[in-house]
Amino acid sequence: MGSYGGGSRSTDWSYPRTERFDRGFHDQDKMSGLGGGLRPIDWSSQKVERFEKNFYVEDKHISALSDREVEDFRRSKEIKVQGRGVPRPVRSFEEAGFPEYVMASIRAQGFASPTPIQCQAWPMALSGRDVVAIAQTGSGKTISFALPAMLHINAQPLLAPGDGPIALVLAPTRELAVQIQQECTKFGASSRIRNTAIYGGAPKGPQIRDLQRGVEIVIATPGRLIDMLESQKTNLRRVTYLVLDEADRMLDMGFEPQIRKIVSQIRPDRQTLMFSATWPKDVQKLASDFLRDMIQVNIGSMELTANPDIQQIVEVCSDFEKRAKLIKHLDQISSENAKVLIFVGTKRVADDITKYLRVDGWPALAIHGDKEQRERDWVLGEFKAGRSPILIATDVASRGLGMSVSSL
Ligand code: ADP
Ligand code: MG
Repeated sequence: MGSYGGGSRSTDWSYPRTERFDRGFHDQDKMSGLGGGLRPIDWSSQKVERFEKNFYVEDKHISALSDREVEDFRRSKEIKVQGRGVPRPVRSFEEAGFPEYVMASIRAQGFASPTPIQCQAWPMALSGRDVVAIAQTGSGKTISFALPAMLHINAQPLLAPGDGPIALVLAPTRELAVQIQQECTKFGASSRIRNTAIYGGAPKGPQIRDLQRGVEIVIATPGRLIDMLESQKTNLRRVTYLVLDEADRMLDMGFEPQIRKIVSQIRPDRQTLMFSATWPKDVQKLASDFLRDMIQVNIGSMELTANPDIQQIVEVCSDFEKRAKLIKHLDQISSENAKVLIFVGTKRVADDITKYLRVDGWPALAIHGDKEQRERDWVLGEFKAGRSPILIATDVASRGLGMSVSSL
């Protein structure tokens, strides 16, 4: 037995199965209304204020490059672009032309250089265009839309009492909403841009208070936002910068009707940005419905790509052999005192394997959509702190883990 310690290694298949019927947070989110109380807005009859959305001035070093040099740079970063009039990528933070308050927050993070998606997405977003950006998880998409959001917000009139947000970010899960909020806080604090995260499975009171105090950025899961809109705790009349983050995952989770409802409440001449790790047909359809004259950037192949920093070992085996192989790997890994994430296809398998490992003395916990939010937070906390170094997750839960894991 490795250094995880633990009890007996006997396999007790008769261990009682306790089914949980907790409603998961996104189930709650999905069920909390489809926005039937929200009336469609006839935008053609509405008087809307003009707004500023193009803040981009190409750096002179970028202007001086030949087309060939731009092509070479894009190729070296695996940047592929499509659409009319795509701006050239930048090569450094300085070349993006951010104001000093943004540069200071970037320096505070100690980032050496922009990631490929940032190099191309910043000029695209800063020039006020509708943007589709596809890049793998962990590639730095959040500040690709969050930093341009700061400039956008600072160029708009101040919020008046009763105004809703200027920037709205839709995200599939609470974990992601909170992570995006943390990034916005890091980079927005210096210019006093306020934000809040609105998600299901948590008390509404504090969220309502934030909304009513006035926030420039709202990061929300779709169901809870609809709830807040229907109960008139906020409104989207001031939204001119809309981000759909993890669009593919939101569609996988069945949020399309809610997303459509929400978008119908936002003025059509807004700037819309869509971020996704993959680019399947249903995401393409959503983009063509919501974005105008869009420009697109893909990093890496147009197909889903694996992260080259991760060594992948594929073992082909029968179902029957799986558990023995798992234990063999755990034995080896535990002697290195490392943390282990096990992804499985279904909630049921997650629970089964967790039980199997625990009975066998392994410090394993599971996380998936049928767990209450409080329990999910607790499990993640135990894993991060190393008290329970084995985490079994369904892949829906995995997106929210992605960045938490990188910060372990
Ligand atoms: P994604 O949304 O593409 O999955 P994130 O935006 O969450 O990725 O970024 C993943 C991690 O990389 C975060 O911890 C973020 O702070 C960090 N990061 C972002 N941009 C840079 C950069 N230019 N250099 C180094 N780290 C970065
Ligand atoms: Mg992300």
